[in-house]
Amino acid sequence: MSDAVQNQPLGVFGGTFDPVHYGHLRLAEEAADALGLAAVRWIPAGRPALRESPRVSAAQRLAMVRLAIAGNPRFELDAAEVEAAQPSYTVPTLERLRQPEHCGTARPLVLLAGADAFAGMTNWHRWERLLELAHIGVAHRPGYSIDAASLPPALAALYRERGSTDPADLTGAPAGRIVTFAMTPLDISATRIRELLSKGLSPRYLLPDSLVDYIRNHHFYLGN
Ligand code: ATP
Repeated sequence: MSDAVQNQPLGVFGGTFDPVHYGHLRLAEEAADALGLAAVRWIPAGRPALRESPRVSAAQRLAMVRLAIAGNPRFELDAAEVEAAQPSYTVPTLERLRQPEHCGTARPLVLLAGADAFAGMTNWHRWERLLELAHIGVAHRPGYSIDAASLPPALAALYRERGSTDPADLTGAPAGRIVTFAMTPLDISATRIRELLSKGLSPRYLLPDSLVDYIRNHHFYLGN
């Protein structure tokens, strides 16, 4: 990899992806363009710490992400959280990426999140460390506002201090800024897709056809 690419910001996109859908895919694709990311590293959670167990196994969610991002040269898959025995937490994941054998300390990392996930970050394990390790790129999501007045007070204070809409701020330092960006509003959620499937209804056009086939062939998300 050339030095120029190696110093270009890398997006880090974690999620349960139960299943991955076009909301996720457009978020990552539009973040890469809007924020000048060299690539987006997708990191499916193994055992998410803060929510109930996903409906399908970590290996199966990983397989679905692999299928969904196949052929996109800017997307990379990171299986470390899925392979880990312990629950998934973002701060240890970012600490791992900061190791010299991964990205090191100089490269800007941009943790990508939708507005809902951003608003909940103060519940994350050791969340105060997040901005020491990465920038945060926050995408608008229908139904959720990105507004200091609606954030928990500690996050609102950080957002006032570190918030920006200028992607150029991401290249000035390896971490520490919160940059918001507008993406094509897509009111799609994995919850809704699971609901449709559990009722025997079609989720087609909410996620790639290859995934619809995969889910059908594996009989995922049937019943309650
Ligand atoms: P669920 O409905 O099961 O809670 P989800 O659709 O919100 O799932 P997650 O895997 O929890 O998907 O989300 C991973 C990340 O993608 C989060 O940061 C979330 O905010 C973001 N995200 C998911 N869907 C969208 C969307 N339609 N628009 C913008 N961001 C999204």
